[in-house]
Amino acid sequence: MIVINEELCKGCALCVDACPKKILRLNETKRNKGGFHPVEIISQEECISCALCAEVCPDVVIEVYK
Ligand code: SF4
Ligand code: SF4
Repeated sequence: MIVINEELCKGCALCVDACPKKILRLNETKRNKGGFHPVEIISQEECISCALCAEVCPDVVIEVYK
């Protein structure tokens, strides 16, 4: 599973493209304090904790747990 610090997210979508399970997307209905659409996870159940999303994120938004 992952934990997303929404307020740090800049909505660049690098993690969305990196996720092999395609379970990340930008939340178009929400804006954080920086004015960005933060990333959200569609299905924690499908997450394989590969950490590719966390590695690619330039802003250390995502923490990965097994
Ligand atoms: S840890 Fe891997 S499977 Fe889980 S959300 Fe991140 S990139 Fe996707
Ligand atoms: S890579 Fe980081 S900053 Fe970019 S959308 Fe994903 S969580 Fe947000």
